[in-house]
Amino acid sequence: MVIVKRKELTLAERLYIPEVLRGLRITLGKMFQPKSTRQYPEEPIPSTEVTRGQPRLAENEDGTLRCVSCGMCEIACPAYAITIDGHEIDRPIEREPERFEIDFLRCILCGFCEEACPKEAIWMSDELELADTTRKGLIYGIEKLKRPASALQKRIDYVKRINDRWRTFSST
Ligand code: SF4
Ligand code: SF4
Repeated sequence: MVIVKRKELTLAERLYIPEVLRGLRITLGKMFQPKSTRQYPEEPIPSTEVTRGQPRLAENEDGTLRCVSCGMCEIACPAYAITIDGHEIDRPIEREPERFEIDFLRCILCGFCEEACPKEAIWMSDELELADTTRKGLIYGIEKLKRPASALQKRIDYVKRINDRWRTFSST
């Protein structure tokens, strides 16, 4: 049989005073460090060109959509979040979506739709906030998705710059 001899505790140790003092030292040290919490929504999350928020449909200057309802983004979407019904039109692009819906309950903001689009018609915006009281309200149609291309310009320029860099890299 092994007899373990325990150290005799002092009165301070029995009252946990060293642990309390150590805890207070850490708390006081943290109080004077810069805060890492953000007072959201008063302090919104800063967006940059890299921000991949909800996808939006780009409009031309005359307010028409760039989308030709080819369905490439619908096929590329891994979350099956996009639904498109196209129809023929008189404009030179010949087709445009009659119905273009993104179900934001499904969308995972992956950006595959942006990459798949051959017409530069869908871009990841810097819009990150999403809330509604119904599931239906989070299925966005054309009216809620369209934005002037100028509102998406920061992202458009970024993606083009990255793609150009990749092309230069692959051709060397
Ligand atoms: S960002 Fe991804 S998940 Fe969302 S609609 Fe585009 S492809 Fe689908
Ligand atoms: S890939 Fe582009 S052009 Fe084709 S349906 Fe999607 S947004 Fe429209």
